[in-house]
Amino acid sequence: MPFKNKYDVIVAGAGIAGICAAIKSQKLGAETLLIERYSFLGGMSSAGMVTPLMKYWFKDKILVKGVFEDLQNEMRKFDGMIDNGFYALEFRKAAYKLLKNANVDILFNSEIIKTNFNNRKLESVTINSHNQKKIIQGNVFIDTSGDASLIYLSGLPFQKGDEMTGNLQTMTLFFRMGGIDIDRVKENAWKNKEDYFAWIFDTADYQKIISIAGFFNAVKKELEKGELQKELSYIFFTTLPEKGEGAFNTTNIMGLDASSSSDLTKAEIIGREQVNQVINFLVNKIEGFENSYLLESAVQIGVRETRRVIGDYTINGEDVKTGRKFNDAIARACYGIDIHGQENEDSRMEELPENQYYEIPMKALFVKDADNILSAGRCVSSTREGHSAVRIQPTCAAMGEAAGAIAALAIKNNLTIRNVDYKEVRKELLENLE
Ligand SMILES: Cc1cc2nc3c(=O)[nH]c(=O)nc-3n(C[C@H](O)[C@H](O)[C@H](O)COP(=O)(O)OP(=O)(O)OC[C@H]3O[C@@H](n4cnc5c(N)ncnc54)[C@H](O)[C@@H]3O)c2cc1C
Repeated sequence: MPFKNKYDVIVAGAGIAGICAAIKSQKLGAETLLIERYSFLGGMSSAGMVTPLMKYWFKDKILVKGVFEDLQNEMRKFDGMIDNGFYALEFRKAAYKLLKNANVDILFNSEIIKTNFNNRKLESVTINSHNQKKIIQGNVFIDTSGDASLIYLSGLPFQKGDEMTGNLQTMTLFFRMGGIDIDRVKENAWKNKEDYFAWIFDTADYQKIISIAGFFNAVKKELEKGELQKELSYIFFTTLPEKGEGAFNTTNIMGLDASSSSDLTKAEIIGREQVNQVINFLVNKIEGFENSYLLESAVQIGVRETRRVIGDYTINGEDVKTGRKFNDAIARACYGIDIHGQENEDSRMEELPENQYYEIPMKALFVKDADNILSAGRCVSSTREGHSAVRIQPTCAAMGEAAGAIAALAIKNNLTIRNVDYKEVRKELLENLE
């Protein structure tokens, strides 16, 4: 696809946040370029094969609609999604269709490797495009790279890991299996509830997509024999639209930093070893898995946490736990603190009471010391606790869409991003703020 040397808005990274940002920005009239280092869309939602969508609803209220809902509607058209579970391939197809319909320019196979940042302003990015360096200028930039790449390359401050220990969340390589006798697996779980996490019994009766997490006793035995790596303390999977299929969010890679290529390499290797061990274990030791088989493992290891931007506001754990609201809210969420801990820390999952939600303020998307950069998605300005809650796909999508709206309104009204009138932004995001 031909692309220009200059755009109104440049979105860095085509995960769910970047996709939603680019669609919104272009739809509001700004000429928008979406740059992605891989040759496909989706980031963690496709390369990482992350499914399902974590909670963004109450019984009678949906907190995130907008572009996020359009993505889901596209996937459902092709039976690529049931309830909140979906296929990575369908996600890619749906995202591509929406971007194409919106006329967004996409540049694949292009890693941003350098930025030209002077006097608080990002002028251009340099991409590595098949060993050629190309410079692309922009008026407003949105960092949806997950790793805060634009901020890092511009020499702007960032945070990484736990404020006290520096710990990052563990990584997980997703994989998908077929041929599972789900009814038998479920029946066994209901008969031996103490061998599973209690929360799996809350939703399974009314959802078609169910989660099974536990198998503690059998896992313990294999750990004692050394047949499973010690980081694997339970097995967790969710069912998928196709009968007998499950997506496994169960491998657990500790002590590595996904913003380092050498650590990422180690993580990929350990992740793939763990996938083989888990499959052997399930097929040979667990009822209902006798005829199951591996369908695919994710293209890349799932990365929960790397760098976080420092913004005009930092979303924190108290905001999440107390359901804080803001006068300049741009998104709403109800997912609680969820930290997959390292060896020296406990994992934490703190659900919020039903009907309690918190808001994300517009000022959290403005990057400190920069006049024309917004950030959204996994790298948004947050404490480690705050990040652990807002990193889920629905919230990343909502923040991305908001960043796209702010960027486009700045272009349309010839304003800097901080001078965009919040009332105008709100009008564009009403579906997510009703
Ligand atoms: C193991 C695991 C399990 C999870 N479970 C769930 C779950 O069940 N439900 C849920 O809703 N969420 C879950 N999440 C969280 C969620 O998947 C991610 O946080 C979310 O998808 C992040 O979206 P994003 O768009 O912010 O970033 P990403 O998806 O990380 O996208 C960033 C994109 O930027 C690109 N990029 C990075 N740097 C550059 C560069 N320099 N140049 C060009 N491109 C670049 C990347 O290639 C990538 O495509 C999970 C995450 C993990 C890892």
